[in-house]
Amino acid sequence: MRTSRISRDTSRILAASRTLRQTRSGANPPVHDASDSELSSVPTDAGSDGDFATPPPKRRKTVRDTPVKVKHESKEVSLTSTTSPKKEAKPKKARRVPAKKINGAGGSVKIEPPPNWEEIYALTREMRNENLAPVDTMGCESLADKQRSPRDQRFQTLVALMLSSQTKDTVTAVAMRGMQERMPGGFNLESVLAIEPAELNGFINKVGFHNLKTKYIKQTAEILRDKFASDIPDTVAGLVSLPGVGPKMAYLTLSAAWGRDEGIGVDVHVHRITNLWGWHTTQNPEQTRAALESWLPKDKWHDINNLLVGFGQTICLPVGRKCGDCKLSERGLCPSAVVGVKKKIKKESVVKVEPDGEETVKEETVVAEVNEVKAEDVDVAVGDIEDIGRASRNRSTRSKT
Ligand code: SF4
Repeated sequence: MRTSRISRDTSRILAASRTLRQTRSGANPPVHDASDSELSSVPTDAGSDGDFATPPPKRRKTVRDTPVKVKHESKEVSLTSTTSPKKEAKPKKARRVPAKKINGAGGSVKIEPPPNWEEIYALTREMRNENLAPVDTMGCESLADKQRSPRDQRFQTLVALMLSSQTKDTVTAVAMRGMQERMPGGFNLESVLAIEPAELNGFINKVGFHNLKTKYIKQTAEILRDKFASDIPDTVAGLVSLPGVGPKMAYLTLSAAWGRDEGIGVDVHVHRITNLWGWHTTQNPEQTRAALESWLPKDKWHDINNLLVGFGQTICLPVGRKCGDCKLSERGLCPSAVVGVKKKIKKESVVKVEPDGEETVKEETVVAEVNEVKAEDVDVAVGDIEDIGRASRNRSTRSKT
């Protein structure tokens, strides 16, 4: 009896085992009953039954931690080549033709002016009229207080010229205005004699070499009181006898204060620019003055200083002269013209793409025309305050022309 029950149980187990094998092999449809629930719970068709369907596995996103940089490199091209396919005609390069000495009969010597000088002068005047320069409104000639007596105005003009050495016109103008408005007793010889050096220094402490200029102005005031009847001298010899006053300042003072043009006041701009034009090859402003006075008509002696100081402040700058804006270069009249030098600059443009793809930064490529910039290398040596700090140089006044 017991054996037959065991045998029945064994048969049931074997039958169940067969059913299970058939289900695994897929030969029969799945059977959902308690006995095989663990196996049949694996879905055969995902999503077919909302209660039991498990969502499909997500694909993992690949996240980049750093922005992707895409670099493009491009070479710039010149403006000319982008705006016009035609080649620009090269301006003529002027020849350097200085003034010439011509020996005449009986040992006489005549100086022949540089050719085209009148055309150069007239064109420069034209450019000056079109471009207001600092010297036009703040030059030493215009700084004296017109409300004061002629004697006080002359004194102020001399002081303005002494301050202007190694100093910008704007700075000189501010210092002069300060003294005119606030100096006790007004700005004249007597006030300068009375003021303490430290207080005078306070008025001019923005100008170049103000300590030395304070000393020179105080000494000058005493000399004027003692030797020149409290006025400024009306001769070049008298003016150059004052401390810190050299020939350039003396001629400019004589012209501005007394209205007498006995010589040309050669500023560094006059010296530099007339050498650039090839009118002469001189080593210092004194040589330039002698060279110019040998042929330049007297009616230009007063004008040339203001003309070239303003030209040097606006177009023919000491560093980075603007030959591209200069009519002399346009007409092929200047042998020192630097024309249309365009530099090709390699530029890099960068595009950044952020991980979320939202931000894009682009660096623009700028195309620019670059003119060659040159610093002038012309020696300056005059017997003015401008000599301060400069190595002593040969002061021969012999012109090379
Ligand atoms: S700006 Fe140039 S072209 Fe004009 S005068 Fe000066 S050097 Fe000559």
